[in-house]
Amino acid sequence: MGESNVVSKDTSATEEVVVGELNLGFRDEIARHPGGENVRRCFACGTCAAGCPITEVDPEYDCRRIIRQILFGMRDEVLSSPVIWECLVCYRCYVRCPQKVNFTDIMRVLRYLAVKEKRVSPETFERIARAGRVANCVQRDLVKQVMKGETAALEEFESKARQAVGAEA
Ligand code: SF4
Ligand code: SF4
Repeated sequence: MGESNVVSKDTSATEEVVVGELNLGFRDEIARHPGGENVRRCFACGTCAAGCPITEVDPEYDCRRIIRQILFGMRDEVLSSPVIWECLVCYRCYVRCPQKVNFTDIMRVLRYLAVKEKRVSPETFERIARAGRVANCVQRDLVKQVMKGETAALEEFESKARQAVGAEA
């Protein structure tokens, strides 16, 4: 692929956009699915990313960037990306979006397409679901203990979690 095919290097999307690899029908494909109808309304304000709990712990996760990639037609990059499995499906971005883009349901569409096209194995899909259940159990137990006035488990878990990701405890 020659350099002349590079049409954009968006600062909010780190990848070079290459003409030969774009699928400009991707946005329409997303818009045809329930929940994806408003994808073209995004004007890249970034409000969704500002309130996202995943972005809060991982600045590399950026829902605005994912929407831009969809609009640019970066179908393969988006559907093959591990980040589409990080979303908590909490709808916080949807509530805050001035354009009612509904990124949460768009994320569901992306996952549906990724599974349908076997971009993740059934084993990986099941492990991702397990990770969510484990996280829910951990949160429930920690909240119960906090409500009883016990914070030792929370502090220990937080310290271990920070160490695991290389942050300072
Ligand atoms: S808040 Fe809505 S309009 Fe703004 S970047 Fe996010 S999806 Fe786009
Ligand atoms: S639904 Fe996903 S992208 Fe939106 S705020 Fe929640 S975690 Fe972030």
